[in-house]
Amino acid sequence: MGGGSVRGFIFFRVFKPNHRLIWTGLLAILLGMAAHPWYVAYRERKALEALSWSVASKVIVVDPGHGGADPGCVGGSGVLEKDVNLAVARRLGAYLSQAGGTVILTRDGDYDLSDPEHQSSAIVRKRDDLEARMDLIKQYRADLFISIHANSISSPRWWGAQTFYHPKDPEGKRLASLIQEELLKNLGQSYRWVRSEDFFVLRNAGVPAVMVEIGFLSNPREERLMSQPAHQGKIAWCIYAGVVRYFSGEPAPTCPF
Ligand SMILES: [Zn+2]
Repeated sequence: MGGGSVRGFIFFRVFKPNHRLIWTGLLAILLGMAAHPWYVAYRERKALEALSWSVASKVIVVDPGHGGADPGCVGGSGVLEKDVNLAVARRLGAYLSQAGGTVILTRDGDYDLSDPEHQSSAIVRKRDDLEARMDLIKQYRADLFISIHANSISSPRWWGAQTFYHPKDPEGKRLASLIQEELLKNLGQSYRWVRSEDFFVLRNAGVPAVMVEIGFLSNPREERLMSQPAHQGKIAWCIYAGVVRYFSGEPAPTCPF
């Protein structure tokens, strides 16, 4: 018998291997590993709750794009952009009001804001509609304007939400970057980052403004997701988290890729 096995023998005499204890330990480690992402999400929610005071007393115009005769883009299986925009806007409005913000929805139903007396053409009607949405920003002395849209292109390949801001709106860029960071973290890595665009509503808002294109209706998987209330709530939560971080003064994150 060599010295090594004697030492081994003594070891097992002193620390009797208790199989039940070993298995319990392993199980605890596995459970801990499985629960870790939930724990991180829980911690993040708690951190956000602590910052949600920043939204109190703020006035936010939430703008579900399109409505009424204008469906926006249409998915392959018939999901209408105007419907998903409204669903996400309502959920976002609920989160913001719960945090003490004053929320103005530019529409809370299936209609547009054009003047019924003044509808000579679709272009005139669209212009009227967008101007009426801009008027609400002034009327309610809003602090922020958030427009919700969905995207569509000819190829079904592309997916992912993307947030836009106006090139002359640095605060809009900060808000857009914070929202985009939340979207990437919670909806998957789409390798899309914020972009500046000279859209009518971003140019004319007069307050920090963003447009969130919440996904591609031309992508069958994303079309299906966007019609589901759970996913709509997730998108709304991401935008809400970005707004909370924005009002609490967080600097703009930079593109992570
Ligand atoms: Zn749209």
